[in-house]
Amino acid sequence: MDTTDMKITIGHLYPDLLNLYGDRGNIACMMKRCQWRGIEAETIEFNTGDEIDFCGLDIVLLGGGSDREQAIVCQNLLKIQKQFQEYVEDNGVVIAVCGGYQLLGRYYKTDDGMIEGLNLVDIYTEQEEGRLIDNIVLQSELADMPIVGFENHGGRTYINGNKPFGKVLYGSGNDGKSGYEGVVYKNVIGTYLHGPLLPKNPQICDYLIQRALERKYGPMTLLPLDDSQEQEANEYIYRRFVKE
Ligand code: GLN
Repeated sequence: MDTTDMKITIGHLYPDLLNLYGDRGNIACMMKRCQWRGIEAETIEFNTGDEIDFCGLDIVLLGGGSDREQAIVCQNLLKIQKQFQEYVEDNGVVIAVCGGYQLLGRYYKTDDGMIEGLNLVDIYTEQEEGRLIDNIVLQSELADMPIVGFENHGGRTYINGNKPFGKVLYGSGNDGKSGYEGVVYKNVIGTYLHGPLLPKNPQICDYLIQRALERKYGPMTLLPLDDSQEQEANEYIYRRFVKE
């Protein structure tokens, strides 16, 4: 099928509260990589209190936030829990970063109390002593290139039997102990990698776009793009933190 007849609609959830460290760059990256291939791309921002129709969405982005912002967002999330869960179970594509990742789970327990999560994936997060802050490098089944990024979180996420996003080559990951980072459930990726994640890791961006297009239009191949600059940057980070 000709990709120029295709369209992707991205739902950016709560950018008014969840937008730490330029998570918005992930939206720009998805839009651009679609447009460069002639695929129409649109982003709809939903701020707290807005009605969300998940039927019209192909990719949902939930960004990072501070504990305070997460507690506010949590009230809104619980109102849309049922529709969001239907979207996920129907293989809807979701990319959730840091605070957003924590909110996918059952709960996030902090020293100040309990933030109830969306319960979309069977994971949970608890605040423990000290923050895990550093560059991070992963090896993931979803990409040939190593995945590079930056993490900064006080919460430790436990993914039970779920599949991780990647194996930690450098950095802390989910809990600083397991050696794994993030979670993959159906077409949902949850990860602590800010940075923003997708411009630094174009293969993950394409993975999300491809999953979203295939859900809508059936099996297809994405046109390759020239990622030589991204590859060079990726190799530099890999060499700096893993190889040397
Ligand atoms: N508030 C969460 C934590 O510290 C998430 C922070 C973030 O999104 N960077 O664990």
